[in-house]
Amino acid sequence: MGLIVQKYGGTSVGNVDGMRRVAERLLATKRAGHEVVAVVSAMAGVTDNLIKLAREISAQPTEREMDALLATGEQGASALIAMAVNAIGGKAVSLSGAAAGIVTDGVHTKAKISHISPRQINELLAEDYIVVVAGFQGQSREGAITTLGRGGSDLTAIALAAALKADDCQIFTDVDGVHTCDPRVVPDASKIDEIAHDELLEMAGAGSKVMQSRAVEFAKKFGVGFEVRSSMKDVPGTRATAEAPNMEDVVVRAVSLERNQAKVTICGVPDRPGCAGRIFSVISAANVSVDMIAQSASTTGTTDLSFTLHKDEFAIAEKLLAPLVSEIGAAAMTATTGVAKLSVVGIGMRSHAGVASRLFACLGEAGVNIQLISTSEIKIAVVVDEAELDRAAQVTHAAFGLATPRSSAQP
Ligand code: ADP
Ligand code: ASP
Ligand code: MG
Repeated sequence: MGLIVQKYGGTSVGNVDGMRRVAERLLATKRAGHEVVAVVSAMAGVTDNLIKLAREISAQPTEREMDALLATGEQGASALIAMAVNAIGGKAVSLSGAAAGIVTDGVHTKAKISHISPRQINELLAEDYIVVVAGFQGQSREGAITTLGRGGSDLTAIALAAALKADDCQIFTDVDGVHTCDPRVVPDASKIDEIAHDELLEMAGAGSKVMQSRAVEFAKKFGVGFEVRSSMKDVPGTRATAEAPNMEDVVVRAVSLERNQAKVTICGVPDRPGCAGRIFSVISAANVSVDMIAQSASTTGTTDLSFTLHKDEFAIAEKLLAPLVSEIGAAAMTATTGVAKLSVVGIGMRSHAGVASRLFACLGEAGVNIQLISTSEIKIAVVVDEAELDRAAQVTHAAFGLATPRSSAQP
């Protein structure tokens, strides 16, 4: 007996059958004696369609109106789920993010939650309702509807679990849990039973979109344990928790992939203070996020500086940097799309050597060229040609023995 937050993603509520399945699970959880708060995403494809529609209406819709529009996807789905629960004899009510008491800052399209006042949720729970909250949204102090970034219903669920001091938070999705790689790319990827917040955070940041990275960050900060599991089958999923002592035994937990990247290289940058600062201030002033950055050592008084960014921000970065190349006295700039990032992640890397050499060797044997390398304490990332990404993922996954039980495959 306790309070359980269950989040259902877009594919889980993507059609009438899926919604009925969700309603049955909510009711079964309630009848097992729990208080239940559901968080739902928009039906699969709805958010993308609304974005497309907005772009047909206006080349540059304001972010305020985009938020007002996109929030309707989750509002519709939450009302339908409440109806589905009521239709099978349960008692449910839906709430928008604002009605659920989710207060955010005013940064439209990527608002941050400032606090949650769950008074209405608590009152409804006390009246025995299953409370269905529209994910991905909140309200600014000025009363405008805001959204929490793509995939933001995960954040709604984790933040509500923290605010309500829930006994459990379950993230239901279209896979059995977090896998050792995206199962769409590596079919023999295996489900991970238990993962540390830090590993999942690195994975999400490196492109494994099974959980929104801001949601994992929030869970880590507020110590929210949660489970990622299937909405189609009743099997245990992946439990994400603070790090436990035995977790370092596994060296590489997973391979993460990020497509749609672009790479910019500025050659012959004078090796003197201030040049990198000028390059990256121009880019950050335009709100463009840069990912991997690498600079060659200077032996001739100049260096080559490379970085990656999302391909949608490539054109703007190229336009801003072109005049700067001659201004700072650099030789040239080359810029390409069609690249992708592959990362191996595992907290065991802190205490085990040899991961980089194994990764580079397996990619070399497969004839995959590495264009850039970056590392963190628990991750090694490489940039490769996007056309070679799937093959690179498959050979890397095999080289680290991730398809077999990890205890026997890794030191
Ligand atoms: P939801 O709509 O439920 O939020 P998402 O599409 O956001 O679901 O996330 C689930 C998808 O994440 C899966 O269908 C899978 O293709 C993808 N995915 C990427 N990397 C992984 C991984 N390491 N483990 C599991 N799923 C992954
Ligand atoms: N519907 C939103 C999206 O597609 C939020 C979510 O699904 O979590 O990004
Ligand atoms: Mg998602």
